[in-house]
Amino acid sequence: MQSISYERASDVNHAIELGRQPGAKFIGGGTNLLDLYKSGIEKPVRLVDVSRLPLSAIDELPGGGLRIGAMASNTAAANHPLVRQRYRLLSEALLNGASTQLRNMATVGGNLLQRTRCYYFTDPTFAHCNKRDPGSGCDAIDGHNRIHAILGASPQCIATNPSDMSVALVALDAIVHLQGPDGARQVPVADFHRLPEDQPQFDTVIQPGELIVAVELPAPKFSKHSHYLKVRDRASYAFALVSVAAAIEFDGDKVRDARIVLGGVAHKPWRAIEAENVLRGQALTDEVLAKAGEAAVAGARPYQHNAFKVELAQRAVARALQQAGGQS
Ligand code: SF4
Repeated sequence: MQSISYERASDVNHAIELGRQPGAKFIGGGTNLLDLYKSGIEKPVRLVDVSRLPLSAIDELPGGGLRIGAMASNTAAANHPLVRQRYRLLSEALLNGASTQLRNMATVGGNLLQRTRCYYFTDPTFAHCNKRDPGSGCDAIDGHNRIHAILGASPQCIATNPSDMSVALVALDAIVHLQGPDGARQVPVADFHRLPEDQPQFDTVIQPGELIVAVELPAPKFSKHSHYLKVRDRASYAFALVSVAAAIEFDGDKVRDARIVLGGVAHKPWRAIEAENVLRGQALTDEVLAKAGEAAVAGARPYQHNAFKVELAQRAVARALQQAGGQS
């Protein structure tokens, strides 16, 4: 059995120093990492415990935005009064994820980094998985691919990103704050996760030794009209077959601006810019909602078992927009 060293980081600089060592993995809530470790998918040599770092505060920013520390639990973020009041979309998405027990342990930083639930990735008895073992192939492409991507996939990997929170964060134009061996940098959440292309082993643009320290939400623009809709096989504790974060800013009864982001359909939260363009300047009639749904899945390429997701996503977009538009 491979032995693992464990060290608790005393501050962010100490964490980065430890995290740059070969085989190091940061551990916060551990809800995804420990699962993957137990099944032999993740093989850390040293665990760097970042759970006690002072990164759990949720603070209002000058100008009306919000900074959520990376170690804030999913529960704390979902239930924070300012999140509930100004970023209802984020609160809804977080509360749609996992179970109460998992949300109490899981951190905001860890949620951004959770790995796909593709069965062929999480079960090492399947031999071919380019994400787990680059160059080995992809058992999902000709296998049971009901939960897999319909947009943005590659011949190397058709997995989906499992995070509800990240879908809402893209719709809210959130920014990830990173700190690493080369200093601090900021990445829009929309650019943080990546498409598989020919390197599906990389889920995000995070670099070795980099630590997520916070997520920043800009001043709220869509607090009056938003909705997170999650469609799944059972009512709780299930990943999305399709989810939609819909946010609308109205000018009278016409749409001034909108965000439509889909989850469960691609290797990253999928922003449907063409669907947003359909809405601008229009009232939310049934015809406009249907056109937005169609535009959201333009270019979709389903596989043998997931063609149902195309129509499901179309209908989910229309429904989420209708729900968002009906709020005041
Ligand atoms: Fe692996 Fe991606 Fe294929 Fe799943 S879809 S088996 S994660 S390469």
